[in-house]
Amino acid sequence: MVTRPRPIATFGIGATGGSERTASWERAPGTSPLSPNSVDPRALQLLALFAQQSKDHALICMDPQGIVVGWLGVAEEIFGYRADEALGQSVARIFMPEDRAKGLDRYELQLAAMNSRSEDDRWHVRKDGTRIWATGTVTAIRDDGGALLGFVKIVRDRTDLRSRVETIELQAAALRDSRERTHLFLKTLGHELRNPLGPVTNAAHIISRLSADPHVVNALQIISRQVAVLTRLANDLMDISRLEAGKVELELKRCDLRKLLTDAAQSLANAASLKQITLSTVLPQGPLMVDIDESRFQQVVLNLLGNAIKYTPQGGSIWLKATQAGAEVLVKVEDTGIGIASEMLPRIFELFTQAHVGPDMVPGGLGVGLAVVRQIVELHGGTVQARSGGAGKGSEFTVTLPAPRADAGLVTGFSTTPDDEVS
Ligand code: ADP
Repeated sequence: MVTRPRPIATFGIGATGGSERTASWERAPGTSPLSPNSVDPRALQLLALFAQQSKDHALICMDPQGIVVGWLGVAEEIFGYRADEALGQSVARIFMPEDRAKGLDRYELQLAAMNSRSEDDRWHVRKDGTRIWATGTVTAIRDDGGALLGFVKIVRDRTDLRSRVETIELQAAALRDSRERTHLFLKTLGHELRNPLGPVTNAAHIISRLSADPHVVNALQIISRQVAVLTRLANDLMDISRLEAGKVELELKRCDLRKLLTDAAQSLANAASLKQITLSTVLPQGPLMVDIDESRFQQVVLNLLGNAIKYTPQGGSIWLKATQAGAEVLVKVEDTGIGIASEMLPRIFELFTQAHVGPDMVPGGLGVGLAVVRQIVELHGGTVQARSGGAGKGSEFTVTLPAPRADAGLVTGFSTTPDDEVS
């Protein structure tokens, strides 16, 4: 199929841009940059053979008006036209009709004439009407005097690559779409879950005023604990999409973290004691100042503590520790629970990750809480890390927050003896 057309003798006057000075082959004898004087003849031979034999590239030589004067390399394979069909025709016919209508075929040559080359990555059309994605360049070729001799368009057929890219783009769009729908569903679920909790809590209050019967009191405590768990879950569900979209704004306030941590531990003391779990707080003697959004940070601590209780078997221990180390404030939740396998640790903060599926699964989770924790901590400019020695070896979650500037430099270690035993 390879053809070796000679350039037509004269290109004529009237260049691409209108005022462009064009050259004729006769006017520049011996002045070609490929003159044997300037280039090793072996290189010239190799170039000529490359133009004939290239298995990847189509080389389309054009006069200044874009009329094809050379149809080389794999031009026939790529575009479907034989050389005798292509020569003497405008290069415009390989452009998509919509691109032709926009004048892109002419624009490409004008750009090359102005800048000496133009990039060319676009859909082209083959003789049989099918589309191909071609990548390459168009180079304006000039004689020694700067007059335009014509253009060489070198292209590769990358339809395979483009199709893959388009498939991936479509998949990414579908994933984005499905993620948006998932987030909307989670938000609606959170709303629906939270709505009945108010009336349930009110009804429980009324009952508590009407009866001091120990059975009733016990039942009300169960209701209260379960309502707290559901409220946390509902809040997480409603928050996760806004957090992931970066739509949550913090109301930062400087406060002593010790109070927030003690309150959080107190609020879960009952849940811990029901499983005979010892929940201890280990806090510094002096104030531990941080700039936080209190209700958001409370959500972080309650999620970590709630998990520690959920994933620690009967009779275990949990420590809630906090300290300042240089310019950072560290909050740790450690437990003697079921632990986390090392392969799960890198993914543990991703949405819907559940490390314990199968026989050791602890029911009642959705894999949302830790995703919320990470988002909130990162909004505070902090980080959160999980560590575990593996299954049955307990877990340790460390939240690191930047300490307020005024306190930077103050270093206190974790106290080894609990300051405050909660249960
Ligand atoms: P879930 O609602 O499932 O608890 P989270 O996002 O809070 O969702 O936690 C994700 C997963 O991380 C849990 O399903 C559990 O497998 C694991 N995990 C979290 N905290 C602990 C912990 N303290 N000990 C062991 N595993 C934990």
